[in-house]
Amino acid sequence: MVKLGSHVGMGGKEKMLGSVKEAISYNANCFMIYTGAPQNTRRSDISTLMIPEAHELMIKHSIPLENVVVHAPYIMNLANPEEEKRQFAIDFLTSEVKRTSLMGAAQIVLHPGAHLKQGSMEGMKHIVNGLKKVIENTSDLNTKIALETMAGKGTEVGVNFQELGYIINNVNSDRITVCFDTCHTHDYGYDLSDFESVLEEFDKFVGKDKISAFHTNDSKNTIGSHKDRHENIGFGYIGFDNLVNIINHPEFINVPKILETPYVTEFEGSKNKVYSPYKHEIEMIKSGSMDENVLNKIRE
Ligand code: FE
Ligand code: FE
Ligand code: ZN
Repeated sequence: MVKLGSHVGMGGKEKMLGSVKEAISYNANCFMIYTGAPQNTRRSDISTLMIPEAHELMIKHSIPLENVVVHAPYIMNLANPEEEKRQFAIDFLTSEVKRTSLMGAAQIVLHPGAHLKQGSMEGMKHIVNGLKKVIENTSDLNTKIALETMAGKGTEVGVNFQELGYIINNVNSDRITVCFDTCHTHDYGYDLSDFESVLEEFDKFVGKDKISAFHTNDSKNTIGSHKDRHENIGFGYIGFDNLVNIINHPEFINVPKILETPYVTEFEGSKNKVYSPYKHEIEMIKSGSMDENVLNKIRE
């Protein structure tokens, strides 16, 4: 059975238990959470996250622990040109990896970093050093750090398979894997209508077996736009068939696929994003055929 879910909240009173309930309400069998707000470093005490209760509910609904994906916050940058800020990123990522492990999740997804005009090579070297230190700091754990493929916005590093391959080969740890974001790879310039060729290219520089998670999003922009704006499944430039083809790919059946598609607005043209699309998107993906009317169903 394909592992399909979405990112879910953890902010409510019930914390991780609330996350599991949200995932179940979408008929998802995997999900992704942030260990706290993605934009800051404030974290509630691990003992308040209702982890045992969350695990119990997962067992009841046959959601294996290995299907939980954590996403690291955006505010840390292992590639920062300032040493102090790199050290902050190393320390904070270390504590986030430990939290990930305590939550029972197998992996934490990380945006590799931004070189901030030092050049990609400098940035990549900092990332390699930073990751080596984090792996060392958590050597008693087997939590994976999944580097996300990036769209090539601003000075992002890890935007193509060559760069990801450079980082991964130089850190040289089986705990470093990849989270393949379809919107990002498309926005960078990879043509996902020919996924087999993209995969071949990926295999050449990184290795197919390194993919430990997918973010399956459509894109609001054309291929190579470097924009990174997610779209609902089937309503963007990647398209329903290409996304379903990736989600059902036989080589990645055991890899969690996470939707990060946007919430749907109250009515067309409104800016108020109020309806979660995930239950209906999951249903549509499982059915295998595009429903042009799905946005209206989500609004019901
Ligand atoms: Fe991400
Ligand atoms: Fe993503
Ligand atoms: Zn994105």
